Amino acid sequence: MSSKTFFPFTFVWVSIAATSLPACAPLSPTGVSTHTWPTHGNQYYNYWNAKYLGSDSAGHLSYRLIDSATFAEIRSNFNAGPDDSSAIRSLIDSSREITIDSARIQADLQWIKDSSVITGKEYQVYLYIDRTTATISSVHGEPGTNRNSHPYIESDRNHGIVLPIPTDSPRNGNRILIGQVHGHPASRGGITLHRMSPDDSLTAVCLQAPIYAIDAMDGLQGTPGSIHRANPNPGKDFKPQDLCIGRTWGGGTSGFEADSIYNIGLNALHIWGISHQPKFEELRKIDATNATIAYRGIKLR
Ligand SMILES: [Zn+2]
Repeated sequence: MSSKTFFPFTFVWVSIAATSLPACAPLSPTGVSTHTWPTHGNQYYNYWNAKYLGSDSAGHLSYRLIDSATFAEIRSNFNAGPDDSSAIRSLIDSSREITIDSARIQADLQWIKDSSVITGKEYQVYLYIDRTTATISSVHGEPGTNRNSHPYIESDRNHGIVLPIPTDSPRNGNRILIGQVHGHPASRGGITLHRMSPDDSLTAVCLQAPIYAIDAMDGLQGTPGSIHRANPNPGKDFKPQDLCIGRTWGGGTSGFEADSIYNIGLNALHIWGISHQPKFEELRKIDATNATIAYRGIKLR
């Protein structure tokens, strides 16, 4: 199917009950590729799905979005090798530098922490890259309950991506989901652990995107909260989860310290860039299982 063909999106409500996701098991260690990120050069990501295509040998480090066919064509046209200066110039001219809206993302991380502390619900945001503007940013999602927050997404199998369904802006078919972040508030009638839940890990595997949680079970509104992450491809290279990888900025009068923030947008791009396609069949089964709830989800907007 051509990329210009209209492809109807499938609405999916991602349930993260372990029993309904039997097929979303982590890959075996042998099924995981080894990947080491280069320390310099322009890194190229596919315009259509934001997957990593490759790097050049430029002296600096940057991140760029390029049409995958154009990328392949330029590389094959340069017999002297993909790293001669003309090839790099062509790649740069045909691509767009990716920018990260850190102010919005960091404000949203603190919003998750504060809202989850105040309400006792799992507030959530979606991390996405808009392919038309090459910008990584965040949008608000539907807050969850005291125990769960379900990503509301649309599947775009044509491009092998899922799109977030935000509550604070219209749907946009150019926004590729690269991660989700939610709060972990104090539990009513139990203890909330400072880590990712097993359901978070299943969601990461199904969506093939990193899932982050922010501690909101202790500490006050306007204070930093620790950030944890569930990884989509646990195995040889990745642990199922990484704990305390960063903190929210805290807000209040502490100021926005750009050099000390955790660059969650770039982190999500790197992980999404080398993960697999979302597990659409599993997502579709979940959608069917939760048809009533999914319908309610649509009606909310
Ligand atoms: Zn969680």
